[in-house]
Amino acid sequence: MNIEYSNLKDTPVFIKKENDSLFFIEENKNRIIKEYEILKDRIEYEKKMFDSEYEKKKKLFDEKKCLCGADLNLIDGYDFWGCNCYLDGGEHIKFGNRENPIYRTIPNLSSNWVALLIKDLGLKGKIKAIVLTEWFNENGYIDLCGILGHKPYNYGSINISNKKSKFQEKIAEEKLNSIFSKVLYQQCFEYLFNNEIRICIPDFICSKSSEIEFDAEVVYVVDCKLSEYYFDDAKAELYICVVEKFLRLKEDLREVEFCYWVDDVNDLEREEKINHIKSKTKYGIIMNGVKIQ
Ligand SMILES: [Zn+2]
Repeated sequence: MNIEYSNLKDTPVFIKKENDSLFFIEENKNRIIKEYEILKDRIEYEKKMFDSEYEKKKKLFDEKKCLCGADLNLIDGYDFWGCNCYLDGGEHIKFGNRENPIYRTIPNLSSNWVALLIKDLGLKGKIKAIVLTEWFNENGYIDLCGILGHKPYNYGSINISNKKSKFQEKIAEEKLNSIFSKVLYQQCFEYLFNNEIRICIPDFICSKSSEIEFDAEVVYVVDCKLSEYYFDDAKAELYICVVEKFLRLKEDLREVEFCYWVDDVNDLEREEKINHIKSKTKYGIIMNGVKIQ
């Protein structure tokens, strides 16, 4: 990647916007939490109903029993399972004769529910979905997509700090400050690529390490991620190139390395999980301050 030019720049307006969002979140906190709880209750209820309905249907199909108690048969000439009295009154059930007739779907929740919630509250344009997502995360309000086993919506785009929590950044900052004698937080770089001026904002630029696992002569770019889903090696490469270019223009010949900062895993299969995380990137990984790759 050929970066032609790179320099430091003042924090741009859209990052300040993040602070505006936090202001409006605080101001509307009670309404936001109330709406969230209502939505969460609904989703949990629907999931529960769905699960029990599914279990019930599955049991009937496994046992080849109709709701009326009669046996289910594959009806001749028609492609479904039903009982012999399914045309009579009363409650019956039938299943199509596909490979898995009890196809599992999940209750409906739009994956960008945070954005929709903001809209419903009349706060569109005041609160950014990515900031509220982070706020929920920091304050212990779980992602509702998680209840349904969905992946969270990715609100990150060209903008800054994709979906990571300020809380995680704070912990990272403290720890990095104890490892490196120089740590710059969310430093904005302006760079020239393909004749286009762009900006990027890595979370931390760290140098002069006192710990053995980091090289004192290397400049480390560290970016916080809530999970390996958000690893972005293309961006990591960009950060390396931009910081390298910046150093070279200052006749600083130090090498630049990149590391993702992730929180410790608390899964039962810890080793397996760590190996999984490691397999998701060719770059370094710092887990709670310890370099694991
Ligand atoms: Zn029946």
